[in-house]
Amino acid sequence: MKKRILVTGGAGFLGSHLCERLLNEGNEVLCLDNFFTGQKKNIAPLMANPDFELVRHDVSVPYWTDVDEIYNLACPASPVHYQFDPVQTTRTSVLGAMNLLELAKRTKAKIFQASTSEVYGDPDVHPQPEGYWGKVNPIGIRSCYDEGKRCAETLFFDYHRQYGVEIKVVRIFNTYGPRMHPEDGRVVSNFIVQALKGQNLTIFGEGQQTRSFCYADDLIEGFVRLMATPNGFTGPVNIGNPGEFTMLELAEKVLRLTGSKAKLTFQPLPQDDPKQRRPDISVAQKELGWNPIIDLEEGLKRTIAFFRKELNA
Ligand code: NAD
Ligand code: UDP
Repeated sequence: MKKRILVTGGAGFLGSHLCERLLNEGNEVLCLDNFFTGQKKNIAPLMANPDFELVRHDVSVPYWTDVDEIYNLACPASPVHYQFDPVQTTRTSVLGAMNLLELAKRTKAKIFQASTSEVYGDPDVHPQPEGYWGKVNPIGIRSCYDEGKRCAETLFFDYHRQYGVEIKVVRIFNTYGPRMHPEDGRVVSNFIVQALKGQNLTIFGEGQQTRSFCYADDLIEGFVRLMATPNGFTGPVNIGNPGEFTMLELAEKVLRLTGSKAKLTFQPLPQDDPKQRRPDISVAQKELGWNPIIDLEEGLKRTIAFFRKELNA
């Protein structure tokens, strides 16, 4: 059945892939974005589709419309951008969640929250299962994002318990792919753009910290599967690729796959930068039958091809 679906943050990197997927499945999509980090060009190819609508709006201000489902992705995700106006980042996460939960309550829409592995902070437990409560600094430079997302999860679960709102919460681990902004600031796009421009790759700290990188298409498949789970299944569910790499290993791969002669340059490690991160995906495997398909090497090749075109490099 054709559904009317609101995607907040729909002009961003992940949001634009999600809008495209939902349209391809025959739904009507209402994309809402304030274009803080999103770009019109991400959704330009969708504009000709009569089932697609675009609204410029800030989720920290209430918005009313009739919808069947809501995917809440609105929030800057790169440390550079979420630290640019930290108060606005918390407003986006917390007030945005509350406004959209009110909309879900009123329209009886099912609502999905794009939460994050950052709720685990700089984790003592490795890999991270959903039952781990995390180790997060409440007053540091990452807190506007980490605590904002944690509070959003709290609101989701309280609206579920208190008002019976149907919720689905995903915890996304570092995801990359085509349509990342060249100045996004996250590590995969930074290294690829630097390699293609022949600039030094900026390694923060000694490059021994680890991350697990998921390709965008795999993640979106997990989103759609989670939204389709039976009523009452709320998550949270980790979605990410358990392959774990140091930043030095990532830099080496990017240099090899781009054929770049760029060098490495070492810069100070930002405050509270998590030392290790890898998802335990057993819940996603059991409840969603989900596994990532695209490994880092293949995902990097596709992302490099995108940036070569984007930068004419
Ligand atoms: P992105 O920055 O490309 O997308 C975020 C989108 O939200 C942008 O289009 C931006 O303009 C929009 N936005 C920001 N504040 C808004 C506001 N107040 N009102 C309306 N729109 C607003 O980042 P992304 O990687 O696509 O992330 C999408 C979501 O997934 C975010 O909620 C992010 O926290 C979450 N997430 C992403 C990752 C990842 O690795 N990509 C990891 C964990 C969580
Ligand atoms: N990082 C890096 N060089 C960069 C950007 C990031 O070495 O140019 C490191 C960063 O310190 C962190 C890891 O890469 O340890 C992932 O950073 P990103 O901002 O992509 O995501 P997050 O820290 O939110 O996981």
